[in-house]
Amino acid sequence: MSCNIAIDGPAGAGKSTIAKKIAKKLGYIYVDTGAMYRAMALYLIREKVDPSETEKISEKCKEADISIGYENGEQVVYLNGENVNGYIRTEEVGNMASASSPNPEVRKKLVELQRKLAASKDVVMDGRDIGTCVLPDAQVKVYLTADSRVRAERRYKELQAKGEECDLDTIERDIIERDRQDMTREISPLVQAEDATLIDSSHMTVDEVAEAVIALL
Ligand code: C5P
Repeated sequence: MSCNIAIDGPAGAGKSTIAKKIAKKLGYIYVDTGAMYRAMALYLIREKVDPSETEKISEKCKEADISIGYENGEQVVYLNGENVNGYIRTEEVGNMASASSPNPEVRKKLVELQRKLAASKDVVMDGRDIGTCVLPDAQVKVYLTADSRVRAERRYKELQAKGEECDLDTIERDIIERDRQDMTREISPLVQAEDATLIDSSHMTVDEVAEAVIALL
């Protein structure tokens, strides 16, 4: 049987950084489920779908074939065969992902893919509903969070490092709005699973958080 570690939490809590680190240390595969929702969002943006057009999203998402692979140890997301890693890390795509992810058709399609990946391999999977919905039997479940200002500062630094124009207050507002959408949606809202361990990383280093998760295993 494969061993699964589920890490959920709000935007910018450091889930992917931690998950990647743990996966490398344990020799597990890292699965970034947010990247799948982002690839779907990119498709919808390219198809000029508005986030409010629920029926159109249900229809259009059927045309998007999303899969993942690994190149040089990095997860690569393919959208209809195209490597879209370079296009999905923008605030526009993140906001569209949050707006389209409540759609049941979108979720059904991506959750199926995620479960398939975890069934045959040891994975560290991060997202919003991994411990509550995708992998309810995961051996380790963590709910990783941090103060919204701290999370905004982390995003700000990431964007600055990439040379993107950004404003800290706008990023914090976006993060709070995205969390609100993710936490209040009807299907699989972001919530701490009953059997998940809460880790607040506001005043912890990456290594300290990674150690805390590995200790749970
Ligand atoms: O984690 P990331 O910021 O890349 O996720 C983008 C959006 O995708 C989230 O705001 C959320 O709406 C959606 N998502 C989700 N379920 C997951 C992962 C991401 O609904 N498991």
